[in-house]
Amino acid sequence: MAVKYRTSIVWLRRDLRLDDNVALARAAAASERVVCAFVLDPQLLRGGDLGAPIVSFFFDALADLRADLRALGSDLALLEGDFANELGALAKRVDATAIFFARDYVPSAQARDERVVAALRASGCVVDASLDHVYYGADETLKADGNPYTVFTPFKRRWLARHDEDPRPPVASRAASAKKLATPAAIGATRDVPEPDVYGHARSPHYARGGATHARKALDDFLATHAGAYADDRNFPAVHGTSYLSPHLRAGTIGIRTCVFRALEARDGARGARVTGYDTWLSELVWRDFYQQILANFPHVATEPFLAEAKRLEFRSAADEFDAWAQGRTGYPIVDAAMVQLNTTGWMHNRLRMIVASFFTKDLLLDYRLGERYFDRNLIDSELAANNGGWQWSASTGTDAAPYFRVFNPLLQSKKFDPDGRFIKSMLPALAKLDGDALHAPWTLPPLQAEAIGFRIGRDYPGPIVDHATARERALALYAPVMGKAARVKT
Ligand SMILES: Cc1cc2nc3c(=O)[nH]c(=O)nc-3n(C[C@H](O)[C@H](O)[C@H](O)COP(=O)(O)OP(=O)(O)OC[C@H]3O[C@@H](n4cnc5c(N)ncnc54)[C@H](O)[C@@H]3O)c2cc1C
Repeated sequence: MAVKYRTSIVWLRRDLRLDDNVALARAAAASERVVCAFVLDPQLLRGGDLGAPIVSFFFDALADLRADLRALGSDLALLEGDFANELGALAKRVDATAIFFARDYVPSAQARDERVVAALRASGCVVDASLDHVYYGADETLKADGNPYTVFTPFKRRWLARHDEDPRPPVASRAASAKKLATPAAIGATRDVPEPDVYGHARSPHYARGGATHARKALDDFLATHAGAYADDRNFPAVHGTSYLSPHLRAGTIGIRTCVFRALEARDGARGARVTGYDTWLSELVWRDFYQQILANFPHVATEPFLAEAKRLEFRSAADEFDAWAQGRTGYPIVDAAMVQLNTTGWMHNRLRMIVASFFTKDLLLDYRLGERYFDRNLIDSELAANNGGWQWSASTGTDAAPYFRVFNPLLQSKKFDPDGRFIKSMLPALAKLDGDALHAPWTLPPLQAEAIGFRIGRDYPGPIVDHATARERALALYAPVMGKAARVKT
């Protein structure tokens, strides 16, 4: 790209890093001078749609990004207010004629971007919108007939074939921009990164720290130490078996191209069974692109079931059961321990997300959108595409290779994936003295044994809010007439 602009602004949003950053690379190639900016939206921050974990994570990431920019003799232009007004005013102050940013597939973000872009263009700025947060864009992995994939396995085949022909290595944005970043004097006054409590969010020491520096370390550690065993370990919440990179991919403190290329590089150096670990992890990154392209190509999923027939499902409404689920008081230890993990750390293991979502949608028969919203407000990695995809998968209302009725048995899941209860006990100290089957189903502990260890259901831990076998039958009865014979398949 030839140099076209004297000064450009890079409007950073969910790409809070200098490495492998598409908008930054494009701005650096097209401009003599680049100003990196982020706009805090006080209405959004205070409005109740964002949870403390993700706000804290983003603020950490902004501080890390600012330190990175300062180390290069520049700074972050941190603004607060209306996006179009703030960016327009910055453009005037630094004499910028172009604004570069990376697009998002979230419908509300797209509507906001349209408004901002129109205002910036009206004020004479050129706007360059690129794609950064996915490996392939939603229109780059279509079927031969031009339609989007709705089933993961063929999508993955297409994704891998495209990767053979058209790999997307990380972009060299840091090197390209290093000598072009505006000096602090040229940027002018900028505010400090606030603490989350300024907007009513309490930071917790249990939240993972944000920032590209932490992301790089997490990726190095995962690839060197854990990825080789990922295929086996990833299902066990008590084991450090996954990458914990989801909040970083969400905030863009690591680039998706970097993750893919580093995984392939590590895979090349691996032998035997370890190769499967890297392949399986790569598959998860493809799942991420899969749900992103579902959201982009079928934006109705943001508010409605993917499957039209599922709109006829009449979910129950039971505020007390919702509260018991949300607060980890269902009486099913694996469900409750998972919700405690979410409520204290903002993160939840993938196996547990599937278990609690299945319990919510099938055992309680509550509307998946309520559970999705609870996750959205409380997850540190809250991401509409993946969250919605996960919830609709659990509710059997979404895209699926085998759209049969699926009901997880929470007791079997618990025994299989937390066999010695290490995870459960780490989250629910009230169950510390329980072992064996009773740890997974405390209400089955014989009264004499319970008395001997000083444990009482109802006092030390709640009884089950539903009987799983009965709840399963109730779910089948609701789903069967709506979803057809598929609903009768036992899982
Ligand atoms: C009900 C439900 C809700 C979910 N909500 C979210 C969410 O809001 N944000 C989010 O990032 N993930 C979500 N997931 C997917 C998954 O649980 C998390 O990405 C994963 O647990 C993050 O941990 P990790 O980074 O250690 O993952 P790893 O196992 O190390 O996987 C690497 C990366 O692959 C991606 N990934 C893994 N599994 C999936 C998946 N099933 N769908 C899409 N991408 C995936 C993530 O970006 C993840 O960081 C949800 C899953 C379910 C079942």
